[in-house]
Amino acid sequence: MQERTESDSRKLLGRLRDAMAGDDAGQARLDKITHLIATSMKCEVCSIYLFRDDDTLELCATEGLNKEAVHQTRMKVGEGLVGRVAKSRNIINTPDAPQAKGFRYMAETGEDLFSSFLGVPIQRLGDILGVLVVQSKVAREFNTDEVYALEVVAMVLAEMTELGAFVGEGAAMSARHSQPVSLRGTVAQEGVAEGHVWLHEPRVVVSNLIADDPECETQRLIDAVDTLRLSVDQMLTMSAGDKEQQEVIETYRMFANSKGWMKRMQDDITQGLSAEAAVEKEQSLARARMGQSSDSYMRERLSDLDDLSNRLLRILTGQGSNTGAEMPPDPILVARNIGPAELLEYGRTLRGIVLEEGSVGSHAAIVARALAIPLIVHAGRITNEALNGDHIMIDGDLGRVHLRADENVVSSFRDKIAMQAAAQERYASIRDQPAVTKCGNTIALHMNAGLMADLPSLVNSGAEGVGLFRTELQFLVRNKMPRRADLSTLYRRVLDAAQGKRVVFRTLDIGSDKVLPYMKPNDEPNPALGWRAIRVGLDKPGIMRMQLQALLRAADGGPLTVMFPFVAQFEEYRAARAQLDKTIAGEKKLGHKLPSSIEVGAMLETPSLAFAPDKFFEEVGFLSIGGNDLKQFFFAADRENERVRKRYDTLNVSFLTFLEGIVERCVATGTPLSFCGEDAGRPIEALCFAAIGLRTLSMRPASIGPVKSLLRRCDLAEVRAAIHGARDRGEMSVRGAVMEYVRQQY
Ligand code: PEP
Ligand code: MG
Repeated sequence: MQERTESDSRKLLGRLRDAMAGDDAGQARLDKITHLIATSMKCEVCSIYLFRDDDTLELCATEGLNKEAVHQTRMKVGEGLVGRVAKSRNIINTPDAPQAKGFRYMAETGEDLFSSFLGVPIQRLGDILGVLVVQSKVAREFNTDEVYALEVVAMVLAEMTELGAFVGEGAAMSARHSQPVSLRGTVAQEGVAEGHVWLHEPRVVVSNLIADDPECETQRLIDAVDTLRLSVDQMLTMSAGDKEQQEVIETYRMFANSKGWMKRMQDDITQGLSAEAAVEKEQSLARARMGQSSDSYMRERLSDLDDLSNRLLRILTGQGSNTGAEMPPDPILVARNIGPAELLEYGRTLRGIVLEEGSVGSHAAIVARALAIPLIVHAGRITNEALNGDHIMIDGDLGRVHLRADENVVSSFRDKIAMQAAAQERYASIRDQPAVTKCGNTIALHMNAGLMADLPSLVNSGAEGVGLFRTELQFLVRNKMPRRADLSTLYRRVLDAAQGKRVVFRTLDIGSDKVLPYMKPNDEPNPALGWRAIRVGLDKPGIMRMQLQALLRAADGGPLTVMFPFVAQFEEYRAARAQLDKTIAGEKKLGHKLPSSIEVGAMLETPSLAFAPDKFFEEVGFLSIGGNDLKQFFFAADRENERVRKRYDTLNVSFLTFLEGIVERCVATGTPLSFCGEDAGRPIEALCFAAIGLRTLSMRPASIGPVKSLLRRCDLAEVRAAIHGARDRGEMSVRGAVMEYVRQQY
């Protein structure tokens, strides 16, 4: 058997580059490449199989097999030796292919003549694009050098395929990034949007794959890794004091100093790759392993390595996160993940957001919701599939993302947008009219807010006021505790923007899913049931007093409304109220102006508070049902857990009966009551809440139109009859009966 030398590989790569530089059309290029590889590897056969669709591979070019089989021979992933390479993403190297496990005889190719088989996956950054095969008559196993050389060639082919080098006349192949892709994710904020991709962290484009001077490339790699190490050391210094962050950076440092990683990249360079291509080759292998590993610790480490490789590529290519691309006028942000502050910087310029990771309860999701930007999280592979400027449509109602969609999908999607726009016009026409039901009951519709950016919606939506201002967002989006003066200025701006309309400021609701980046995290087994909201406020009175002072000063002699979150028992309300009274007394002493009137209320978010003594209902200024939390505790179903989140219907008879009990107690004690959880913004739910006696609902601004429109069509006595009917029939939820009633109103 003949030994291959490193210079053989380099020669082959050099010839490949020349082939690429020629004027040949796609198919001719592929043919030339198979010929070059077969000759260089001293094999009779070289074939390239590429994916035709998600699970079919197609023979796209061959040297040595029957030419008629090109674009005719196809196989499913997992089928035959080629299909097995694609499925396992591992090489197959056998001296006796017909006897190897999984061999499938394909008469049209004439491959039975060839005994040895070496197949390697053509993959790029974790995505498998096809399989590269060499075969020979002589029964032999390919040696390590040959395998390695073929892997390097496969990597170059992957890049070329990606760059669309094989598209064109005669080639039944299209570049991967030109095909439509449809992905399913999880809805974190509803709404539909059409626009063009704006990558938060654009991929590094490597165009110089092959290099002639390995010494120069090795030096470039060494220099870049030195710079990388330096930057990791700097990160470590900057994160001093944050143990968790330090642990992550220590892992980075370990990788950055890894001799194995360095050696593998240097070997790749010796084979003829450029420094960038070498980094990317190792990154691809790590990604492929990441996709296959079921060990979450291992996956996380490989993901660290992935991140580090990106940094290294940016150093080598000089491409920062700013690649000079221009943001499209209708940007839909695509990212692996994004922090709340970064998202706020983009603000309302974005039409939509698609994240590969993220979670429904993340801070970014909270911000997206506050900005009313449709958001889909867990959209697997999106950062691999999307390129800056690609056409993209997101359906934040169904959790679907359509990238480069074909005409049919585009037109049905546009129909949906048009229908929604028509509905918006209908809502706009009743914006200044009250939500009066057919039976003459008026329901006050308020909006939920949390950012200054929300306030314009107060006018646009026709909301009567802000029923819930989540003050924690201001704390969450910063990296240090905000100062009293800043908070006061912000609250004042909110009140100014509200122009006299009532704003219910909820005091800090942190803990559970809302962890302040600058506060030591508590390792609690059940954070939703843990040290959060008013519990933190009472245990850390300094923060609470600071916020209360900011609110009192912001009122500037006008009226003020304050609400305490997550009150589970009367005593907590009393203690919080006492804090407020103490703060007011302090302010008076200091000579500050006091609000003309102060309303103080509590959120009813725990079932226990519904059973508090009458005295509590009499003392509290008002109550607002926080259905998001109340429901999770009522059904014992975590609101952040996708598996159980939607398992129990809000209109479940038990929950509705429970809510009725709260309404009755408030009526009996004359306590003003509202509902400010997400469900208040869902038209059917809002209708049922009105039917059981709620007269104030607070919701996202975009929900006010749909809720008002439905309320105005319905008679609450008839809705109550539908609810009672369902209950009498023993139905689990009243939804079906109420929906049926609603249908009859249209
Ligand atoms: C609720 O729990 O319903 C609520 C409005 O508060 P948050 O969603 O901020 O916990
Ligand atoms: Mg809550």
